Amino acid sequence: MHGHRQAIGSPRDYCAKLLIVNINLKNREVADGRKQRPTVAFVVPCYNEHLVLRQSMPMVLEALNEMEKAGIASADSFVLCVDDGSSDDTWQIIAALHRANPKLKGIRLSHNRGQQNALFAGLMTARDMADCAITIDADLQDSLEAAAEMVVLYREGYDIVYGVRASRRSDSFFKRTSARAFYKLQNRMGLETIYDHSEFRLMSHRALDILSEYPERNLYLRGIMPAIGLRHTTVSYDRSPRLAGETKYSFMKLVSLSVDAITSFSARPMRLIFIIGLILLVADIGVAAWVLMSHFDGRAMSGWSSLMLSVWFLGSLILISLGIIGEYIGKIFNEVKRRPRYSVQDSLM
Ligand code: UDP
Ligand code: MG
Repeated sequence: MHGHRQAIGSPRDYCAKLLIVNINLKNREVADGRKQRPTVAFVVPCYNEHLVLRQSMPMVLEALNEMEKAGIASADSFVLCVDDGSSDDTWQIIAALHRANPKLKGIRLSHNRGQQNALFAGLMTARDMADCAITIDADLQDSLEAAAEMVVLYREGYDIVYGVRASRRSDSFFKRTSARAFYKLQNRMGLETIYDHSEFRLMSHRALDILSEYPERNLYLRGIMPAIGLRHTTVSYDRSPRLAGETKYSFMKLVSLSVDAITSFSARPMRLIFIIGLILLVADIGVAAWVLMSHFDGRAMSGWSSLMLSVWFLGSLILISLGIIGEYIGKIFNEVKRRPRYSVQDSLM
């Protein structure tokens, strides 16, 4: 249903393209209870982005402008840059952009807390000022045209619109294969996530309200989104290369994000310990038979049989006990997160 979009070039190329898109998007229906012209907030996490902001932010502002002109966004729509404790002059650039155009707003975190926390800070700040918020990276790898389509889908009644990559051509071989492996592992560990979706998505005010009820400190937004539920859909787009600068995700940061993703949503690794313990216990029977046979055949050195039997038996008992303790820790882990038990989508009273 949604076509693929090409990467954008200069702001001028881009405007021409967006206008064309708007001609066929703006006449789409508006659901009951949704505004014709919602206030849209772009939330942009920025960590040491001094090389891209001057180039990318005017493009985002221009996109808002086009959306306003096309009648799909209100005139008080805005861009919110979240400086995630940058050590370069990112904040000075945000301040200069704000002076030039107050539609670009900024908040600055006192320390680098990572993209997930920066996004959360931005979303919670934008929540009171906007009808919907679109999270987009500062390097504009994601498509602004797809963002316009997200707003149109919001007007049609969707609460979460996921940007999903049509292809991974712009990624290095390493990034492509490691990302695939990461999605597979997440699924194996019982995590519900959207394939090939990064942090480019639209959330309605209602979805933001539900998100605000997740008080956990180990934040993994992509894991929370499916749990929020509500009406959701996807928009596909081609991801372009970074405008300038380098990725802010080192290999270690990626590994730590993957570990956080799994351990924040799943107690399955702990259950695996229990299962391995059980498997070993069954294997014990075979080992015991073999050891006893060797013993009675006189092939075994004295002391070997009793050692073998106890090592195997105790090993499986230890794993099973750890697994049982793990089950309880899993329960504690779920309790301490104090996540909402439910959120109501509709009610008739
Ligand atoms: N980012 C952030 N805090 C961090 C790391 C990254 O706010 O600690 C931001 C970064 O400025 C960018 C977005 O998160 O807007 C995605 O980062 P990047 O483009 O470096 O990641 P990649 O696209 O290479 O996965
Ligand atoms: Mg990037």
